[in-house]
Amino acid sequence: MTLEIKNISKRYEKASVLNDISIALEPGVYGLLGANGSGKTTLMRIICGVIKADEGSIIYNGENTNEKADSFRSILGFLPQDFRYYPDFTGLKFLLYIASLKGLDKNMAKEKCEELLQLVGLEDVKSKKIKKYSGGMKQRLGIAQAMINNPKILILDEPTVGLDPKERVRFRNLISSFSKEKIVILSTHIVSDVEYIADEILILNKGKIENRGNSENLVKEIEGHVWECHMKSSSVDDLLANYVISNQKHEAVGTILRIISKEQPAQNAKKVQPTLEDVYLYYLREDVPKK
Ligand code: ADP
Repeated sequence: MTLEIKNISKRYEKASVLNDISIALEPGVYGLLGANGSGKTTLMRIICGVIKADEGSIIYNGENTNEKADSFRSILGFLPQDFRYYPDFTGLKFLLYIASLKGLDKNMAKEKCEELLQLVGLEDVKSKKIKKYSGGMKQRLGIAQAMINNPKILILDEPTVGLDPKERVRFRNLISSFSKEKIVILSTHIVSDVEYIADEILILNKGKIENRGNSENLVKEIEGHVWECHMKSSSVDDLLANYVISNQKHEAVGTILRIISKEQPAQNAKKVQPTLEDVYLYYLREDVPKK
């Protein structure tokens, strides 16, 4: 199974949002990581056929998904960012409704909905109206509805928004148990959301894929570019203005700065082991003067 994103470009009026993106995906979990406004939602909506690209195509197993829209939709599950639900429906009724829209057989639908409600931990509240659900519960219902047709490709736009730490762990486990032989793409601007679940991370910056790889390899690639140094508080401002600072910690004797830079930023700066958070800042560093 392959999903190819081929030369996708999208503009809104004069602004280029996606700029000639080409990536081929095999089964696995992909974390689409980028700042707000980097084009994640636009790319996901194009993959799902909700909006059209100006250029390029989405190819699933060698076939253009625009030309095979119905059959592609039947193997696709999507959680949009602006997921809509009916507040007066119960969780179960809502899932049954989605199942009927997706054309599931009635008996099978009931079984599938119950199974999914259990999987996302909404079994106890399935007969409560959705308007009484917490933000996290609504998000879990959104994830369940995206999985209802047992999709081969599951696309989740910011699925962890509103989830508390316990729900995040549950979500991670849910995705890893679901993802075998499937392509799962989830977007986020939070590094820790994808660090453990994604087999591969796609770093999107200003409409371009800057790099892709697993967390370990991405971290290795920037080894030697992350520094730590103790500075007197009076000299901190100069570094803040000229370098990408990934962390600063104030102590009685001064400030400890963690700096992303190709060159040594200060005489006493020592190289330290990068993290995925540093990788993210490394690729997004255009926003700050680059050194
Ligand atoms: P992300 O999901 O990474 O936050 P989006 O894909 O939502 O990014 O948006 C990327 C850019 O495209 C933003 O600058 C946004 O304002 C712009 N954009 C998205 N949708 C539209 C639209 N319908 N009309 C005009 N501009 C849009």
